[in-house]
Amino acid sequence: MYEQITAELKQKNVCLVAVSKTKPPEDIRAMYQKGQRDFGENKVQELTEKAELLPKDIRWHFIGHLQRNKVKYIAPFIHLIHSVDSFRLLREINKQARKQDRVIDVLLQFHIARESSKYGLSKEEAVDMLQHPDFATMDHIRIIGVMGMATFTDDLEQVRGEFASLHAIFSQLKEDFFEDAPHFREISMGMSGDYHTAIEQGSTMVRIGTLLFGARDYA
Ligand SMILES: *Cc1c(COP(=O)(O)O)cnc(C)c1O
Repeated sequence: MYEQITAELKQKNVCLVAVSKTKPPEDIRAMYQKGQRDFGENKVQELTEKAELLPKDIRWHFIGHLQRNKVKYIAPFIHLIHSVDSFRLLREINKQARKQDRVIDVLLQFHIARESSKYGLSKEEAVDMLQHPDFATMDHIRIIGVMGMATFTDDLEQVRGEFASLHAIFSQLKEDFFEDAPHFREISMGMSGDYHTAIEQGSTMVRIGTLLFGARDYA
Protein backbone atom coordinates (compact mmCIF):
# COMPACT_ATOMS: atom_id res chain seq x y z
CA MET A 1 0.00 0.00 0.00
CA TYR A 2 2.82 2.42 0.87
CA GLU A 3 4.45 2.10 -2.54
CA GLN A 4 1.14 2.53 -4.32
CA ILE A 5 0.18 5.65 -2.40
CA THR A 6 3.58 7.30 -2.66
CA ALA A 7 3.73 6.66 -6.41
CA GLU A 8 0.34 8.27 -6.83
CA LEU A 9 1.20 11.28 -4.66
CA LYS A 10 4.59 11.82 -6.23
CA GLN A 11 3.01 12.09 -9.64
CA LYS A 12 0.70 14.81 -8.31
CA ASN A 13 3.42 16.51 -6.26
CA VAL A 14 1.50 16.02 -3.02
CA CYS A 15 3.35 15.53 0.28
CA LEU A 16 2.47 12.45 2.32
CA VAL A 17 2.26 12.85 6.08
CA ALA A 18 2.09 9.32 7.48
CA VAL A 19 -0.16 9.55 10.53
CA SER A 20 1.41 7.22 13.09
CA LYS A 21 -0.67 8.11 16.16
CA THR A 22 -1.29 5.12 18.47
CA LYS A 23 1.18 3.02 16.43
CA PRO A 24 4.40 1.71 17.99
CA PRO A 25 7.84 3.04 17.05
CA GLU A 26 8.62 -0.22 15.20
CA ASP A 27 5.87 0.56 12.68
CA ILE A 28 7.33 4.01 12.10
CA ARG A 29 10.83 2.63 11.73
CA ALA A 30 9.64 0.12 9.14
CA MET A 31 8.12 2.89 7.05
CA TYR A 32 11.20 5.05 7.59
CA GLN A 33 13.23 2.26 6.07
CA LYS A 34 11.08 2.43 2.98
CA GLY A 35 12.05 6.09 2.68
CA GLN A 36 9.22 7.89 4.48
CA ARG A 37 10.38 10.95 6.46
CA ASP A 38 7.19 12.91 7.28
CA PHE A 39 5.15 11.54 10.18
CA GLY A 40 2.12 13.02 11.95
CA GLU A 41 1.10 12.72 15.59
CA ASN A 42 -1.74 14.29 17.57
CA LYS A 43 -0.63 13.93 21.20
CA VAL A 44 2.32 15.84 22.62
CA GLN A 45 3.53 13.19 25.03
CA GLU A 46 3.29 10.38 22.51
CA LEU A 47 5.14 12.51 19.97
CA THR A 48 8.00 13.48 22.28
CA GLU A 49 8.47 9.86 23.40
CA LYS A 50 8.63 8.60 19.83
CA ALA A 51 10.86 11.43 18.63
CA GLU A 52 13.34 10.52 21.34
CA LEU A 53 13.59 6.93 20.11
CA LEU A 54 13.53 7.42 16.36
CA PRO A 55 15.96 8.85 13.77
CA LYS A 56 16.62 12.57 14.05
CA ASP A 57 15.97 13.30 10.39
CA ILE A 58 12.26 12.47 10.71
CA ARG A 59 10.10 15.53 10.03
CA TRP A 60 7.44 15.49 12.75
CA HIS A 61 4.07 17.09 12.03
CA PHE A 62 1.71 18.00 14.84
CA ILE A 63 -1.86 17.49 13.62
CA GLY A 64 -3.99 17.47 16.79
CA HIS A 65 -5.49 20.08 19.04
CA LEU A 66 -2.52 21.76 20.74
CA GLN A 67 -2.74 23.14 24.26
CA ARG A 68 -0.68 26.24 24.89
CA ASN A 69 1.02 24.83 27.97
CA LYS A 70 2.44 21.96 25.89
CA VAL A 71 3.98 23.93 23.05
CA LYS A 72 7.30 24.10 24.88
CA TYR A 73 7.78 20.33 24.67
CA ILE A 74 7.66 20.18 20.88
CA ALA A 75 9.17 23.59 20.08
CA PRO A 76 12.75 22.31 19.92
CA PHE A 77 12.15 19.92 17.04
CA ILE A 78 8.68 20.14 15.46
CA HIS A 79 8.74 20.48 11.66
CA LEU A 80 5.20 21.78 11.07
CA ILE A 81 2.22 22.48 13.32
CA HIS A 82 -0.97 21.97 11.28
CA SER A 83 -3.44 22.99 13.93
CA VAL A 84 -3.17 26.68 14.86
CA ASP A 85 -6.72 27.64 15.84
CA SER A 86 -6.25 30.75 18.01
CA PHE A 87 -4.16 33.85 18.28
CA ARG A 88 -3.11 32.93 21.80
CA LEU A 89 -1.70 29.64 20.53
CA LEU A 90 0.16 31.41 17.74
CA ARG A 91 1.63 33.82 20.28
CA GLU A 92 2.81 30.95 22.46
CA ILE A 93 4.41 29.12 19.52
CA ASN A 94 6.23 32.34 18.62
CA LYS A 95 7.45 32.70 22.20
CA GLN A 96 8.71 29.12 22.49
CA ALA A 97 10.30 29.23 19.04
CA ARG A 98 12.17 32.39 20.06
CA LYS A 99 13.52 30.58 23.12
CA GLN A 100 14.80 27.85 20.82
CA ASP A 101 16.21 30.42 18.44
CA ARG A 102 14.25 29.00 15.54
CA VAL A 103 11.34 29.79 13.24
CA ILE A 104 8.46 27.30 13.41
CA ASP A 105 6.28 26.74 10.36
CA VAL A 106 2.55 26.52 11.03
CA LEU A 107 -0.76 26.14 9.22
CA LEU A 108 -4.00 27.83 10.20
CA GLN A 109 -6.68 25.23 10.87
CA PHE A 110 -10.15 26.06 9.56
CA HIS A 111 -13.47 24.65 10.59
CA ILE A 112 -14.97 23.43 7.31
CA ALA A 113 -16.97 20.40 8.51
CA ARG A 114 -20.58 20.20 9.45
CA GLU A 115 -19.73 18.62 12.81
CA SER A 116 -19.40 21.22 15.55
CA SER A 117 -17.01 18.93 17.43
CA LYS A 118 -14.11 19.73 15.10
CA TYR A 119 -11.69 22.52 15.91
CA GLY A 120 -10.74 25.38 13.67
CA LEU A 121 -11.01 29.03 12.80
CA SER A 122 -13.58 30.81 10.72
CA LYS A 123 -12.29 32.97 7.91
CA GLU A 124 -13.27 36.08 9.89
CA GLU A 125 -11.26 34.94 12.91
CA ALA A 126 -8.22 34.32 10.72
CA VAL A 127 -8.50 37.75 9.14
CA ASP A 128 -8.65 39.29 12.62
CA MET A 129 -5.49 37.41 13.58
CA LEU A 130 -3.60 38.46 10.48
CA GLN A 131 -4.63 42.09 10.97
CA HIS A 132 -3.70 42.11 14.65
CA PRO A 133 -0.89 44.65 15.19
CA ASP A 134 1.12 42.08 17.17
CA PHE A 135 1.11 39.63 14.28
CA ALA A 136 3.64 41.73 12.37
CA THR A 137 6.08 41.43 15.29
CA MET A 138 6.02 37.62 15.46
CA ASP A 139 9.39 36.83 13.93
CA HIS A 140 9.59 33.23 15.06
CA ILE A 141 6.58 31.76 13.29
CA ARG A 142 5.89 31.44 9.59
CA ILE A 143 2.40 30.71 8.33
CA ILE A 144 2.83 28.49 5.29
CA GLY A 145 -0.80 27.60 4.56
CA VAL A 146 -4.06 26.15 5.79
CA MET A 147 -5.45 22.87 7.12
CA GLY A 148 -8.93 21.43 7.45
CA MET A 149 -10.88 18.24 8.07
CA ALA A 150 -14.02 17.39 6.17
CA THR A 151 -17.16 15.97 7.71
CA PHE A 152 -16.95 12.24 8.43
CA THR A 153 -19.49 11.04 5.88
CA ASP A 154 -19.88 8.85 2.79
CA ASP A 155 -21.38 11.81 0.97
CA LEU A 156 -18.48 12.77 -1.29
CA GLU A 157 -20.35 15.77 -2.65
CA GLN A 158 -20.49 17.18 0.87
CA VAL A 159 -16.78 16.47 1.34
CA ARG A 160 -15.93 17.95 -2.05
CA GLY A 161 -17.75 21.16 -1.17
CA GLU A 162 -15.92 21.44 2.15
CA PHE A 163 -12.51 20.96 0.55
CA ALA A 164 -13.44 23.53 -2.10
CA SER A 165 -14.31 25.97 0.68
CA LEU A 166 -10.88 25.46 2.27
CA HIS A 167 -9.21 26.06 -1.07
CA ALA A 168 -11.24 29.27 -1.46
CA ILE A 169 -10.14 30.47 1.99
CA PHE A 170 -6.52 29.71 1.06
CA SER A 171 -6.81 31.67 -2.19
CA GLN A 172 -8.36 34.66 -0.51
CA LEU A 173 -5.80 34.79 2.30
CA LYS A 174 -3.04 34.44 -0.26
CA GLU A 175 -4.37 37.37 -2.21
CA ASP A 176 -5.09 39.59 0.80
CA PHE A 177 -2.16 38.80 3.11
CA PHE A 178 0.50 36.64 1.46
CA GLU A 179 0.78 37.90 -2.07
CA ASP A 180 4.53 38.41 -1.77
CA ALA A 181 5.10 35.31 0.32
CA PRO A 182 5.93 32.28 -1.86
CA HIS A 183 6.15 30.12 1.29
CA PHE A 184 2.37 30.45 1.76
CA ARG A 185 1.54 27.48 -0.45
CA GLU A 186 0.29 24.50 1.54
CA ILE A 187 -3.23 23.13 1.75
CA SER A 188 -3.26 20.23 4.21
CA MET A 189 -6.42 18.26 3.53
CA GLY A 190 -7.32 14.64 2.86
CA MET A 191 -7.21 11.50 5.02
CA SER A 192 -7.53 7.77 4.28
CA GLY A 193 -11.17 7.99 3.25
CA ASP A 194 -11.16 11.20 1.25
CA TYR A 195 -7.68 11.95 -0.01
CA HIS A 196 -8.54 11.46 -3.69
CA THR A 197 -11.26 14.09 -3.38
CA ALA A 198 -8.86 16.37 -1.48
CA ILE A 199 -6.22 16.13 -4.21
CA GLU A 200 -8.82 16.86 -6.86
CA GLN A 201 -9.65 20.01 -4.87
CA GLY A 202 -6.04 21.17 -4.70
CA SER A 203 -4.52 19.54 -1.64
CA THR A 204 -0.71 19.81 -1.38
CA MET A 205 -0.40 17.65 1.72
CA VAL A 206 -2.44 14.62 2.76
CA ARG A 207 -2.50 13.10 6.25
CA ILE A 208 -2.98 9.35 5.97
CA GLY A 209 -3.03 6.87 8.85
CA THR A 210 -5.37 3.90 8.54
CA LEU A 211 -4.56 3.10 4.91
CA LEU A 212 -0.85 2.90 5.69
CA PHE A 213 -0.73 1.40 9.17
CA GLY A 214 -4.07 -0.41 9.43
CA ALA A 215 -6.95 0.39 11.75
CA ARG A 216 -6.16 2.01 15.09
CA ASP A 217 -6.93 0.28 18.34
CA TYR A 218 -7.91 2.78 21.01
CA ALA A 219 -8.68 0.16 23.65
C1 LIG B 1 -6.02 10.61 12.66
C2 LIG B 1 -5.93 11.80 11.78
C3 LIG B 1 -5.70 11.66 10.40
C4 LIG B 1 -5.56 10.32 9.70
O1 LIG B 1 -6.79 9.67 9.63
P1 LIG B 1 -6.97 8.28 8.81
O2 LIG B 1 -8.42 8.25 8.55
O3 LIG B 1 -6.49 7.21 9.71
O4 LIG B 1 -6.17 8.38 7.57
C5 LIG B 1 -5.58 12.81 9.65
N1 LIG B 1 -5.69 14.03 10.20
C6 LIG B 1 -5.91 14.21 11.51
C7 LIG B 1 -6.01 15.59 12.04
C8 LIG B 1 -6.04 13.11 12.34
O5 LIG B 1 -6.27 13.30 13.65
